[in-house]
Amino acid sequence: MNIIVCAKQVVDVAEIKVDSSTKKPILVGVPQKISDMDKNALEEAIKVKEKHGGKITILTVGAPDAKERMKELLAMGADEGVLIPPPEHADYHVIAHLLAGAMKKIGSYDIIFCGEASIDMFSGQMGPRIAGLLNIPQITYAQQVTVEQNKVVAERNLGEKAVIIESPFPVLITVTKEINQPRLPSLMAILASSSKPIHEWPATDVTTEALVPKLQTMDIKGIPMQRKNIIYQNDLDQSVGKLVDELAKVGVLR
Ligand SMILES: Cc1cc2nc3c(=O)[nH]c(=O)nc-3n(C[C@H](O)[C@H](O)[C@H](O)COP(=O)(O)OP(=O)(O)OC[C@H]3O[C@@H](n4cnc5c(N)ncnc54)[C@H](O)[C@@H]3O)c2cc1C
Repeated sequence: MNIIVCAKQVVDVAEIKVDSSTKKPILVGVPQKISDMDKNALEEAIKVKEKHGGKITILTVGAPDAKERMKELLAMGADEGVLIPPPEHADYHVIAHLLAGAMKKIGSYDIIFCGEASIDMFSGQMGPRIAGLLNIPQITYAQQVTVEQNKVVAERNLGEKAVIIESPFPVLITVTKEINQPRLPSLMAILASSSKPIHEWPATDVTTEALVPKLQTMDIKGIPMQRKNIIYQNDLDQSVGKLVDELAKVGVLR
């Protein structure tokens, strides 16, 4: 099995503060991490490799410092990484062409795993765009994946219901966070991962496409969170009762 996992370096959205005067998110100095569902994607890839053997390659389009985050994925169990620094102006179209171009350069792949969406931009476009560019089948929102001899069977999470779907190889699968619990690498695995390669491929090596963005992000606005600062100081039972009433009033409890 040749497996590719797309993993994006994102700002840790839980750490973003909003400037109350401008209403803009403060992005400077916010820690970076691998997008949550990309770790689910890798965990699923590792499970497939453990059962069927093969190789896992991580693909990241991102700034050079993304290499540091990719090391964590190598420690989890990926075999190698490829980092593609994007041109100065990038959008979904550009990033999808870079990822699909890198996959064509790799040449042989059976399964491509992506997260269903990234935690920062959350467009959910990348998997479907890549499958379109490679002209291969895609299975989105997978919450369970079983790899068999000549096909993959996946259960798609559609909220109220699930749909079982199968596909021949090669196939692109986007996974939900319910699919598994990503493993934490052991100290031995972290040490061993330092000898695993992370290649850097310039954009010009992966595509001859003119990388001109088709969309322009005009503005990013934060949604300031306001606390009510209600403090219940009476008897504990009374306080819990009031708290439950208040939560029900605002629709948190029914
Ligand atoms: C370095 C950098 C510079 C950017 N500059 C601009 C800009 O100037 N203007 C602008 O509008 N947007 C910019 N973007 C944002 C870019 O348009 C989107 O982040 C990107 O197209 C992915 O969209 P998404 O996060 O909504 O992906 P989704 O479709 O929500 O992500 C789904 C899955 O696709 C995969 N994936 C997504 N992005 C990547 C990636 N970069 N590498 C590997 N796998 C990935 C992951 O598996 C992810 O879970 C930039 C992004 C990067 C990484």
